[in-house]
Amino acid sequence: MLNKIIPVVLSFLLAACATSPTGRTQFIYLDDAQVNKMGLQAFTDLKTKKPLSKNTQYTKFVECIAEAITHESGGAWEVVVFDDKTLNAFALPGNKIGVHTGLIELVDNQHQLAAVIGHEVGHVLARHGNERMSQKTAVNQGVALVSSVSNPTSAVGQLAIGALGLGAQYGIILPFSRTHESEADIIGLELMAKAGFDPRQSVNLWQKMAGASKGNESSEFMSTHPSHDTRIKELSDHMPKAMKFYQQAQSIGKTPRCQK
Ligand SMILES: [Zn+2]
Repeated sequence: MLNKIIPVVLSFLLAACATSPTGRTQFIYLDDAQVNKMGLQAFTDLKTKKPLSKNTQYTKFVECIAEAITHESGGAWEVVVFDDKTLNAFALPGNKIGVHTGLIELVDNQHQLAAVIGHEVGHVLARHGNERMSQKTAVNQGVALVSSVSNPTSAVGQLAIGALGLGAQYGIILPFSRTHESEADIIGLELMAKAGFDPRQSVNLWQKMAGASKGNESSEFMSTHPSHDTRIKELSDHMPKAMKFYQQAQSIGKTPRCQK
């Protein structure tokens, strides 16, 4: 009996092991196509529920930055600016990016918003949504998860929405782990630098965010960051490498000029 079970368990574990872009071992068992479907569904729902920004200058600004960033990550991405004063942005499996007008108003320049978009795209590239769902659900829950996204008040729906990183949109607190945050920071830092944005501005951005979010833990960013100093230190540690990417990008004419 046992020798029949063990090979099954082993093959499952092998199938479930993946490696993130930074080389970290991940436990992932959900089909990416399913998770992308969830991202798409959640994004479609949000677009009907949340007002979109009518500020074309903001939309152009965000599209200009997202285009440069996603040119480095690859794939076709949809970008939407939501009319929402909270300091938030998100990216979903299935290549969807949402940015709130509150965040656009906060940033001083294109580099700072590039740091946020790079970070969010980093979560998607590293399949954090899938990893979170794989950690928190049973193998047989996959199909239920997909259909639950449209019903964010159900228990499974809350889990799915939270795992996708959309908790703040629905008042569900399920922050990304410190590991996921660090990883998204590092991927984002490289992406922005390769796209020709100044990676040093990421530090300014996170400092600005920390200052502006004091007492308001509802954004994806601040609810997840017990240690702001750790984040700044990690970014600083990776800065020399990011600066090389930045200089390379500039030398080949990647000098985005996205205006707010
Ligand atoms: Zn994050």
